[in-house]
Amino acid sequence: MQREKYLNYIAGEWVSGGEFSENINPSDVSEVIADYVRADREQTKQAIDAASSAVSAWANFGVQARSELLDKVGNELLIQKESIGMLLAREEGKTLPEGIGEVTRAGHIFKFFAGEVLRQTGDLLPSVRPGIDVEIVREPMGVVGIISPWNFPAAIPAWKIAPALAYGNCVVFKPADLVPGTAHAIAKIIVDAGAPAGVFNFVMGRGSVVGDEIVTNPKVDAITFTGSVETGQSVAQAAISRMAKFQLEMGGKNPLVVLDDADLNNAVECAINGAYFSTGQRCTASSRLIITNGIYDQFLTALVERLDNLNIGNAIHPDTHIGPVVDKNQFNQNLFFIEEAKKEGAQLAYGGEILKRETEGFYLQPALFTETNNDMRINREEVFGPVASIIRAKNYEEALSIANDTAFGLSSGICTASLKHATHFRRQSQAGMVMVNLPTAGVDYHVPFGGRKGSSYGSREQGRYAAEFYTSVKTNYIGC
Ligand code: NAP
Repeated sequence: MQREKYLNYIAGEWVSGGEFSENINPSDVSEVIADYVRADREQTKQAIDAASSAVSAWANFGVQARSELLDKVGNELLIQKESIGMLLAREEGKTLPEGIGEVTRAGHIFKFFAGEVLRQTGDLLPSVRPGIDVEIVREPMGVVGIISPWNFPAAIPAWKIAPALAYGNCVVFKPADLVPGTAHAIAKIIVDAGAPAGVFNFVMGRGSVVGDEIVTNPKVDAITFTGSVETGQSVAQAAISRMAKFQLEMGGKNPLVVLDDADLNNAVECAINGAYFSTGQRCTASSRLIITNGIYDQFLTALVERLDNLNIGNAIHPDTHIGPVVDKNQFNQNLFFIEEAKKEGAQLAYGGEILKRETEGFYLQPALFTETNNDMRINREEVFGPVASIIRAKNYEEALSIANDTAFGLSSGICTASLKHATHFRRQSQAGMVMVNLPTAGVDYHVPFGGRKGSSYGSREQGRYAAEFYTSVKTNYIGC
């Protein structure tokens, strides 16, 4: 039987091309989900040209129609959350509940920005010069290029596309080549909801071709990127060289501090959820567990016991807690860091083995290291897999200092019953998002998301703060 072929959407048409990628299920590598076309540079240019030509039409589309379109997309995502969630679980390896949860979140994001379309405001104030008014308004940037990673194929595209359209921009969206299926399903919903030709363009393909064209093309006014630090740096350099606006969300090495007075069960749940759920493939994953002396032994025993009760398996099986690693490259990267940690003297307290399941897939037993220090590679570089390490700390002060001693600053967490320490940590943690008695991963869709230091660059994503990136401020002076 011939496999289904999925196309790009450029200038109001579904468009084929010369090359297709096979979308492979990491839970069962014998299953090719479907074939997805890869755009070439010329097609990417056509998508950018189409977006550029549609900017003024989209601005004139009117806020009522724009809001209704986004609301329709949100509703449709919620209606289709099971089937798209299943596709997400099959192509990315998240468990089915995680996949459905992510699509639900994408639906909520579109509905949130449907409301924001109608809540755009400006300021009107008197000039310091008599008889003159000053009006401050936000205008669309124009063409927004969106480049997303593979680990959140529904939520990240949603939190970039929805505000881009809400604030009046036209979009050229490139999803990760590894997981085009969920992105394609979202694109189809946007097209079917009635986005006018050119307003929304969807170009699957390689980063080195489609991504590079988006970043370097002078008609792209703003670039929003989520991915690795390495790619982020190259995006930044290209954007700066032509003075384009850009925003980067990148990696993390997020600390979860557990103090002696923490609720042990909650601390263990925070660590399990933050470090290992979604196969540890979250930029907000708690990969450094910083545990103070008084609770260390109890915490370690309870964490290992809890790890031992997790089922690692096919993402769509109902009893699976943790699905496979996304692909061979990522799998090998995890194994490399596990070996590297051992070489540096870390003790493998649990897991780290390759697992065999009924179907051939990238199954890895979640790994936990002890006897690690914050200078080891395992604690300095992002592994991006189900691998966490414990760092022992004498007391709160030392734990805080270790938590902040990193090149990253996306999220951080503390488990404690002490208001004093929780408050101090909230104020002193050098991260963009701080969690108290909660996992470092897991965020709301209506509030700002982003980090500090090497994790992020530019203004925040999500919630009303998204307006900062997707609009340009204009100050009008009106004399009598
Ligand atoms: P990646 O390899 O950097 O890829 C990200 C995107 O950039 C992909 O769409 C990729 O295309 C594209 N790309 C590659 N080369 C490019 C180029 N030269 N010009 C323009 N675009 C290019 O990252 P990933 O492996 O997909 O994602 C994992 C990383 O994302 C992790 O580091 C994780 O921490 C980070 N992340 C951060 C956040 C956050 O909000 N802070 C959220 C999620 C993930 P291809 O499809 O060809 O690869």
